[in-house]
Amino acid sequence: MKHIVLAHRPGGAPTEDNFRLEESPVPTPGEGEVLVRVHYMSLDPYMRGRMDDAKSYAKPVPVGGTMEGGGVGEVIASNHPNFGPGDFVLGMFGWATHGVQPGDMLRKLDPSLAPITTALGVLGMPGFTGWFGLTEIGQPKAGETLVVAAATGAVGSMVGQIAKARGCRVVGVAGGPEKCAMAVEQFGFDACLDHRAYADGREMRAALAEVCPDGIDIYFENVGGKVLEGVMPLMNVDGRIPVCGVISWYNAGALGANAGGETDQLPKFWRSILVNRLRVQGFIIADYWDRFAEFMNEVAPMVGSGQVKYAEDIADGLENAPGAFIGLLQGRNKGKQIVKVI
Ligand code: NDP
Repeated sequence: MKHIVLAHRPGGAPTEDNFRLEESPVPTPGEGEVLVRVHYMSLDPYMRGRMDDAKSYAKPVPVGGTMEGGGVGEVIASNHPNFGPGDFVLGMFGWATHGVQPGDMLRKLDPSLAPITTALGVLGMPGFTGWFGLTEIGQPKAGETLVVAAATGAVGSMVGQIAKARGCRVVGVAGGPEKCAMAVEQFGFDACLDHRAYADGREMRAALAEVCPDGIDIYFENVGGKVLEGVMPLMNVDGRIPVCGVISWYNAGALGANAGGETDQLPKFWRSILVNRLRVQGFIIADYWDRFAEFMNEVAPMVGSGQVKYAEDIADGLENAPGAFIGLLQGRNKGKQIVKVI
C-alpha cells in the first residue's frame, strides 16, 4: 500500500517537501477490525493544524506519521459482523490507499442513495459543520442578513443555502470573480464579494456596507483576517457569530495574531461584542456527532431533490494530495476538495 507521511513540520505555508510518499505492506485486520481499499479521501483545512506541534483540540501528526484524514472505500476483509467484502464505508484511513479500522468506527454507505464522495462533503463532516453552526449557534431568522466567507467551499455553501432556505439575505465572500459567480448562480447567494479585490479590512467594510444595507445579524466565521475586520463594525445589536474556522491565519501557527498584517483590533472588537450584545461561540463539530442523524434527516432529502447543491473538486491520485492540499489553503479548490485514490 501507499501512504503519505509528514516528512517535517512546516514553518509557515506548507510546501511539497513537508510530505513524503511511502510504501508498506497492506495491514491485516485484527479482532473486530475491517480492511478497506480507499477510493476517495478528503482534504480539509484542519489538517494544517495537525502539522504543527502546538496545543489544540487534537494531537498533532508525529513527524514520520501518516497524515490523518477521512476517506471512503470498499471493504476487502472484515472481522466485524456488520461489514463484509464489497460494502462501502466511511472512516479515518489517513492519506493512504488502504486502511484498517475498528468496525465500530466506520459508517456504512449506500452508493445507490448518493455518490459516495458526498459522505466527505455535503453529506459528511463539512456539510454537518455548516448546518450545525448555522442552525444551533447562528439561529437564523427570516429577514436577517448573514455573511459567510469561503462561500463556495463545503462549509460555506451549506451555510448559505440553509440560511437562504430560512429566509435570510445571504452575502458570500469568496476568492475571485469565478467563485463569486458560482456562489450567486449555483448556490443562490444574494451577493458575493471577491476578497482579493480589497486591500484591507477598511476596504472590505466599505464593500460589505453596500451589500448589507441593514447591517449584519449573523457572521459565520470561516476565515478571520480582513473579512472579520470588515464585518465587525457592521454587526447589528443581538448579532451572532458562530466561530467555525480562521483559515487566513492557519499558516501562522497556533496564535496567528496579526498574521496578515492586520492592525490590532482587539479593543474595538471586544467593545463591539459588549455594546452590540453579540453572541460569539466557537465550536468543534466532533463534539456534536449525536446530532448527525438530525442533520441527515433534514438535509439529505434537500440534496436529493436538488434544493441544496454541492460542488466537488477532485484531484487524481494519492501522490497529488500534497499539491491539492497546498492549493486548498490558497483557495485554488472550487468546492469540496477530494482526492481520487483508486
Ligand atoms: P473550503 O472548501 O472552504 O476551503 C478553504 C477555503 O478557504 C479556500 O478555498 C479559500 O476560499 C478560503 N481561504 C483560504 N485562505 C483564505 C484567506 N486568507 N482569506 C479568505 N479566505 C481564504 O474548506 P471547508 O469548507 O472545509 O472549511 C471552511 C472553514 O471551516 C475552514 O476555516 C475550516 O477550518 C472550518 N471548519 C471547522 C470545523 C469545526 O469543527 N469548527 C469543521 C470543518 C471545517 P476562497 O478562495 O473563496 O477565499
